[in-house]
Amino acid sequence: MRSNGSLILEKYSFGMGDRFAHQASAQLRACMQIIERGVEVTPVWNKSHREHAIVGSNPGSVRTAAEAAIRTLNWSSPFYIDADHIRPETVDAFVESSDFYTLDVADAIGQLAESQEINSFLERHAELVGTTKIPNIDEPFVTSRGDIEKIAGKYLKAVNEASSLYRHIEAEKGKGNFITEVSMDETDSPQTPIELLVILAAIADAGIPAQTIAPKFTGRFNKGVDYVGDVIQFEKEFNEDLAVIAYAVTKYDLPANLKLSIHSGSDKFSIYEPIRKALGQTGAGIHVKTAGTTWLEEIIGLAESGGEGLQMAKEIYAEALDHIDELCAPYATVIDIDSAKLPAKAEVANWSSEQFANALRHNPRCADYNAHVRQLLHVGYKVAAKMGQRYLDMLETCEPAVARNVTENLFERHLKPLFLG
Ligand SMILES: [Zn+2]
Repeated sequence: MRSNGSLILEKYSFGMGDRFAHQASAQLRACMQIIERGVEVTPVWNKSHREHAIVGSNPGSVRTAAEAAIRTLNWSSPFYIDADHIRPETVDAFVESSDFYTLDVADAIGQLAESQEINSFLERHAELVGTTKIPNIDEPFVTSRGDIEKIAGKYLKAVNEASSLYRHIEAEKGKGNFITEVSMDETDSPQTPIELLVILAAIADAGIPAQTIAPKFTGRFNKGVDYVGDVIQFEKEFNEDLAVIAYAVTKYDLPANLKLSIHSGSDKFSIYEPIRKALGQTGAGIHVKTAGTTWLEEIIGLAESGGEGLQMAKEIYAEALDHIDELCAPYATVIDIDSAKLPAKAEVANWSSEQFANALRHNPRCADYNAHVRQLLHVGYKVAAKMGQRYLDMLETCEPAVARNVTENLFERHLKPLFLG
């Protein structure tokens, strides 16, 4: 929404990826269904430079597809187009079509900041040294000057990079005409609450009007499959992060709607309940990003359609298996595929529609569900991209089954557990 001339991201927003630009209507229908149930969730279409490069698409195509869906379904509420994980070298292609920018500064984390900068940060933020009591966190944080020095040293460069990226976009688009997210999720170790507090203080110092921040959480966020990790620990960290954000917003005068963004890698079903509980208890907002889950529903829709659709789904699997190393390389840190658990091409060739759909559909209670097949196909969208028009034509031929699966997946498995329970 616009408030005093500036774009303000709504309390609940949901990021969706539409790799082949054919599912925006089916995705938007899921958002309409959750609104019918009384919860306003704002759709955001996200696509990263990496996805564009693999598919061979350009950033403008995301807005074109989203706007077509908006018109078809008479959507009159806000929606956004997220330039996901942009960096200085990729930002320019997204300037025209996006109004949401995810500034990815993870690579700068750990590059030691200048000692002069660290010192002036410490001078500005003497309050961070000593005992910090944050409402809704049981134990106060006790830090030494050395602790804060170390954290500032680790993160100030990343915040500086976010700042120059933000200013670059601001110069192009004008202040208040876009939503800013700072993402630090694609890094090795999760940020502690006190690290998050230091980061937010630095973001405020830099004058970055961040409305969402994506930290790295504990546990594995593998692509397209459920969370792997300690859910109790996640819940604790998540609640602490909410408390730190609420505290920092007042303390450092950050945007009042600043909220967490979870880069879920899609389908982190087992943390949805702790998230929903925490939001209910605190009244906090959230942005949850998904991406490849929709592309997997496209394959399920092809498989369910039988005939040539099923044939193509099998062909995609066979090709993905043949090129497994190449397909997995860009995603190596966010997948765990056990090749021994991948069925042979010949076996899959004999699968029925139901067998294929059951293996791929993310229903952990189904005995045929195979998380390895799912991850391989998740990163296998390059295979479909290479098929080009043949794949897009098949999507259109199988449209009823594809659309039904896309909508049902987002509503039943994502939006409902996140916002309704
Ligand atoms: Zn991310």
